[in-house]
Amino acid sequence: MLNRQGRPTGTGEAATSGAGTFTGNRALLQEEALLFETGRLDATGVDIDEPAPFVSRLGGLERKTPLALPGLSEPEAMRHYVRLSQKNYGIDTGLFPLGSCTMKHNPRLNEKMARLPGIGDIHPLQPVSTVQGALALMEMLGHWLTTLTGMAAVALSPKAGAHGELCGMMAIKAAIAARGEAAQRTVVVVPDSAHGTNPATAALIGFTVRAVPAREDGTVDPEAVKAVLGPDVAAIMLTNPNTCGLFERDVVAIADAVHAAGAYFYCDGANFNAIVDKARPGDLGVDAMHINLHKTFSTPHGGGGPGAGPVVLSDRLAAFAPVPFVRRSGDGLALVEVDGDGEAAQSFGRMTAFHGQMGMFVRAMSYMLSHGSDGLRQASEDAVLNANYVRAGLADLMSQPFGDKPCMHEALFDDTWLKGTGVTTLDFAKAMIDEGYHPMTVYFPLVAHGAMLVEPTESESKASLDLFVATLRDLALAVKAGDTERFTAAPRLAPRRRLDETKAARSPVLRWTPPEPIRDAAE
Ligand SMILES: *Cc1c(COP(=O)(O)O)cnc(C)c1O
Repeated sequence: MLNRQGRPTGTGEAATSGAGTFTGNRALLQEEALLFETGRLDATGVDIDEPAPFVSRLGGLERKTPLALPGLSEPEAMRHYVRLSQKNYGIDTGLFPLGSCTMKHNPRLNEKMARLPGIGDIHPLQPVSTVQGALALMEMLGHWLTTLTGMAAVALSPKAGAHGELCGMMAIKAAIAARGEAAQRTVVVVPDSAHGTNPATAALIGFTVRAVPAREDGTVDPEAVKAVLGPDVAAIMLTNPNTCGLFERDVVAIADAVHAAGAYFYCDGANFNAIVDKARPGDLGVDAMHINLHKTFSTPHGGGGPGAGPVVLSDRLAAFAPVPFVRRSGDGLALVEVDGDGEAAQSFGRMTAFHGQMGMFVRAMSYMLSHGSDGLRQASEDAVLNANYVRAGLADLMSQPFGDKPCMHEALFDDTWLKGTGVTTLDFAKAMIDEGYHPMTVYFPLVAHGAMLVEPTESESKASLDLFVATLRDLALAVKAGDTERFTAAPRLAPRRRLDETKAARSPVLRWTPPEPIRDAAE
């Protein structure tokens, strides 16, 4: 039997696509085909007059055949996009325990502020005299970021954490070149537990990456760092708190050793949410650090889109900051936009067109002002408390690679406890989907075997955490009771079952190929 989309249904093939219903839908969860599959060439939602006769100026290059774009009526188009929007799982849908990503609640106040006409409607090419308020906001954000981190300067323009890494490392590269050591210092030291973006950033701008192993307890040993330092080292890239959810307790000794060797200390600040107003990276010897506004200051994770990853810089690197930056000039504010002279004499140049993501600056500032410094501190404390609550609630069932001891804002488990059960970390994560939870980060960091990195964020209530812990306990007990099927067959209740993720990543199908009848019609 064929359903509306001409796909077989009933008990046969549809069961493998998850539903087993005539329509392919699951209760009120609608199956949604591609626009190209549902649209018709002869349908349209708009009524446009035939153009008046005209003489083509395309010199024979005009299209001879129809465009073959799918047409839909207005209600059909509406349903298509509303259904797609409902397929998104986000922090507004439920607990999102994705470790390292800090899926914070995005306060609605932020959105309201970002949409104020005086902010939402301005244009980057407007005369500076007409956007003094926006520049004042950027200056204020820079002030909060440098104050919270104890650093000298800030570059607001990078568009993401990884872009911020690039910015910070380019400032380091420029500083080394200014010392006349560009040819000599070509190595960047990166611990084994680092996020993949750290070595990728270093390699992208021509450095060679030298690894430093983590010690037994999951932290970096200053002696191990000293062993790999030398006159060829430009910088270390260290994450603190690190990706195992642990504070690098020897960070000052590491910074001292790095500086003594003539190198710079880049700190990956992705985990800053755990230490805001508790520890200032500048006091720990950091020279450059990116701040993921979407991780620490509640702006939306933009699907790789409208992000912001400002970088704070120490005295030693401030002169090399990218343009543009905001400066007081007379009574007002100005943008220093050109590198090469004046204050920007040593600037390494520009990271982006224009000035950065204004909408994100407003949201972050709205979050900071509505919390105040005491509220920011409490958010960090609650984030750490929540992670430890989850950790303690699972510690008797799930193994922790570095022992049963307190963590920062994320709790790390490994797969030692799954050995011999026939269930893998991936199976366990997929079973969480059946229970209505987005899985935690899995198989990262690489230093923990079969890692499961859980970060509940500070805004989850005790009731929400209790249900999450109870659910994971139920799953863990099912593993131990030998109910392997519940895991290896998961997700059983999702619209799609287990997908071949490797194939999807290695050979993605990015182009829709029309079936024969449509192709004929287009010719
Ligand atoms: C998220 C993250 C990054 C990259 O940040 P983006 O904003 O996603 O580019 C880098 N390092 C660590 C440890 C992270 O968690």
